[in-house]
Amino acid sequence: MAIKDILQLGNPLLWEKSIPITEFKNTTQDLINNLSDTLENFRNSNGFGRAIAAPQIGMLKQMIFIRTPKFCGPIINPTINWADTEQMQLWDDCFSFPGLMVKVSRSVKISITYQNEQGLKKELIAENDFSELLQHEIDHLHGILAVERAISPQAFATRTEWLRQKI
Ligand SMILES: [Zn+2]
Repeated sequence: MAIKDILQLGNPLLWEKSIPITEFKNTTQDLINNLSDTLENFRNSNGFGRAIAAPQIGMLKQMIFIRTPKFCGPIINPTINWADTEQMQLWDDCFSFPGLMVKVSRSVKISITYQNEQGLKKELIAENDFSELLQHEIDHLHGILAVERAISPQAFATRTEWLRQKI
């Protein structure tokens, strides 16, 4: 178990696509532990943070780790099967650019399939906060950052200004 450095915007690895995980033994458990520890450390230092994707610690593997009241644990090899045409706009943030807020548009509801840490196939339907969180994290696995999802060239704010205005 270890706390890893989180890659920051400008690091070219963040634009890379991650590869599927096919082996569900020791190496996968190490990655789960590293993501969990790094997420916990970020949240303790910054006061926010619900999830992290493996490429953010430099591991180009299709795993995200989530810790919310609704879901806690790894999501491996996720695929979005269905996305609601109904969209919602929100201010998004990211561990890879913690001082920046980006206004994005996401589907209100999605359905995904994924594998758990044992490699078992699972399905879940997510709405609202959980839906936009999953879309953000799954984007990371495809080398897409929230800055690319900005709804306009003006859809950016520093976190300080965003907090000041409570946009
Ligand atoms: Zn992110």
